[in-house]
Parts: sequence; structure tokens; C-alpha cells
Amino acid sequence: MTKDEIFDRDGKDYLPVFNRYKIVLERGEGVYLYDSEGRKYLDFLAGIAVNVLGYGYKPLTDAVSDQAKKLIHCSNLYYTKAQADAAEKLTKLSGLDRAFFCNSGAEANEGAIKIARKYAHSIDENKSEIITAWDSFHGRTIATLTATGQPHYQEGFGPLPAGFSYVKYNDIDELGEKISDKTAAVMLETIQGEGGVHPPKDGYLKKVRDLCDKHGALLILDEIQSGIGRSGKFFAYEKYGVSPDIVTLAKGLAGGVPIGAFATTEKVATVLKPGDHGTTFGGNPLACAAANVVLDTVPTKEFLGRVEKIGEYFKKKLFKLKEKYPDIIKDVRGEGLMLGAELTFPGREIVDEVLKKGAIINVTSGNVLRFIPPLIIEMQHVDEVMELIDEVFAKK
Ligand SMILES: *Cc1c(COP(=O)(O)O)cnc(C)c1O
Repeated sequence: MTKDEIFDRDGKDYLPVFNRYKIVLERGEGVYLYDSEGRKYLDFLAGIAVNVLGYGYKPLTDAVSDQAKKLIHCSNLYYTKAQADAAEKLTKLSGLDRAFFCNSGAEANEGAIKIARKYAHSIDENKSEIITAWDSFHGRTIATLTATGQPHYQEGFGPLPAGFSYVKYNDIDELGEKISDKTAAVMLETIQGEGGVHPPKDGYLKKVRDLCDKHGALLILDEIQSGIGRSGKFFAYEKYGVSPDIVTLAKGLAGGVPIGAFATTEKVATVLKPGDHGTTFGGNPLACAAANVVLDTVPTKEFLGRVEKIGEYFKKKLFKLKEKYPDIIKDVRGEGLMLGAELTFPGREIVDEVLKKGAIINVTSGNVLRFIPPLIIEMQHVDEVMELIDEVFAKK
């Protein structure tokens, strides 16, 4: 089948919900992807913050193929060592007591919302409100798109579930006004991703934590994008000196195999009894075998130290580019290898032109170039992508 036949077929058979780039990807190696015509692309998107160990990372491919030969799936009615190992690693890393595995980020957040509501109702049956932030992104199920503070994702899908309200991210006064004893949980991305790469202001998350404690509300931190080492810490919240009652993960957790997870405290976990929540596929041995490799590899001092160092190098280079093109770049933001460059105009064209030159970058929120590469990139890859972007900017 030729490339054009694949485009045609997709145009006819697939639900038209993606604004796709016109390339057919076939394989990857390290931090490079190859298309059906053998063209090579430096990948600074990593399948949207998923492929943290890049492509063809042998310990990961070996773990997945070994596990596939033994047992792909068996249902959560039985025990597997892969799942027990992954749960132990996740609880140790987070300092929380109990983990649950599902298949995606939306599902992880959906589970977090459910458990927070059930916990709150055990205190007061009217305690149900979930406060989230404008410009957040929490997923596309009915509850998680309601949690997502971006009305364009919600339009046409109503009626939406009740009990959600929104505050401006980084505005502690507004949260202070909105939160009450009826608040079940405050749910925030530790660093907002899809909404344009917005890190928390100094002290913001600590004050959020204090407000939650004052009102007996749980703090849910969505680390689906900012977690798994991306910020230079395993969980981005470690950077800000807070710990949540519930943390949600997905994206990079199994290096590309679909997975989601949440972890919580014993106190919260006890409200769920057998039958209250569940999943058929979630945490199956294949996904957990992959997660175990990521959970063994990423949270080491050397690995995270490298992410931090390369992230700083990359951020400096972005600031330099901003100096060179002050009419194009308005702001540079982010932590570790979760960086954004806000442009003065929509970024899709830049992404298309960089793609033609052989690198995959991303635009989010219309005008923010978002860089969320595999965490194994090296300085030379940063230099390479920056040169291509510079070439494109030079022609603007
Ligand atoms: C991607 C993302 C989600 C949704 O994850 P899916 O796997 O697409 O359901 C939720 N929250 C954040 C912060 C994300 O970046």
C-alpha cells in the first residue's frame, strides 16, 4: 500500500478527530523515527510525552516480548508478579500507600475523581465539589472533560456531570474564595501541559495544599504529563515540596505500552470495597512488565540528573533563540524536558516546516511550541532541533 493509499483509506475509514501530519511512520531507533519512505525524523514529541526511553530500548523490548510469550493478559481476578512489582515500586516512589492500574490518563483521573467523591461522601454526603483549573487538561471521558477547564472540549457533549468548578491556575486568592467544606477535591496538573506549559508559581502548590487541609479536601495532582521524570524529578511535585493525596500517571509510565495509574493514601483507599471500582485490562502483565522497566530505569539519580542537565541546556538555548527572534518568541517556560516557547502567532506552520526539515515538534494551545522529547536525548539532539527551528524562523 502506498502512502497516498493509506491517507485515502484513513480519510474514509477512520473517525476524523485528528489533525494528522502527512507522514506514515514505520519504525524508531533511539530518538529517531523513520517513515515509510525511509526518511529520518528527530523526535521531540515522543508520542506526546510517552516514549520516555526512546525507541528500541532493549531492556524494554525484551521485557515486553518475554512477557508476551509467557502471558499477555489474565484478568484482575488473579495475581501476577509483574503487577505486584509495579504497585510496590509506585507506592515506594510516591510515598503513598496503594496503587491502581488502568489503561489511560483519562481513566486514571476518572478513578481519582471517583475515589475522592466516595471519600468525601463518607464525611458528608453533600461534600462533592471538584475544583479544577482553567486551561487544564484531564482527559476526554465525560467526567474528565468536565474537569478539563477548556470549554471548547465540552461543547456539544452535555449534559455534563454536576459538581465541578474552575479557578485560575496560579491564583491562590481565587481558590481561597471558592474552596469550602463542600469541596471534595482540588485537582491540578502539577505543571499544566496541554494548556500551554505553565509551571506553578513559587509557593502556589504549598498554599493549595494548606487550603485543602483546612477544608478537608483532597489534593489530586495530575502528573500524567509532568511525571515519570519529565521535570527532572520523578514526580514534578517533588520540585515544589508538596505531596498529594492522590497522584495520577499514564503517558510515559510503560514507555509506550498503554497504561494509566493512580496512587493514594491508605486512609482514602479504604473507602473502596471489592466491586466499587475495577478494570478488565488495567494493570495486565504485559503493561506492568513494561512499567517495571521504566520504574527501574527512570527514578535513578543519574537518569534524573541527566534530564535536569539537558533540560537546563535546552531552556538556555530557547532563551537565546528568544533574544535572537524577539518578534517571534514571546515567552519560554517549563521544567526539565517539558518546555514551551510561546509564539506571537499560531505555531502549526512552524511545526509543518520543521517536519519537512526532519524533526518532529509540537504545538499546543495554538501558539505554544511544546518540547516533550524522549528523556534519553543528548545535547547534540538539542543542538540539532534548535538549528532547524532557527532556519525556519530566519525565513519568517
Ligand atoms: C494526556 C493527558 C491526559 C489524558 O490522557 P489519555 O491517556 O489521553 O486519556 C490527562 N491529563 C494530562 C495532564 C495529560 O497530559
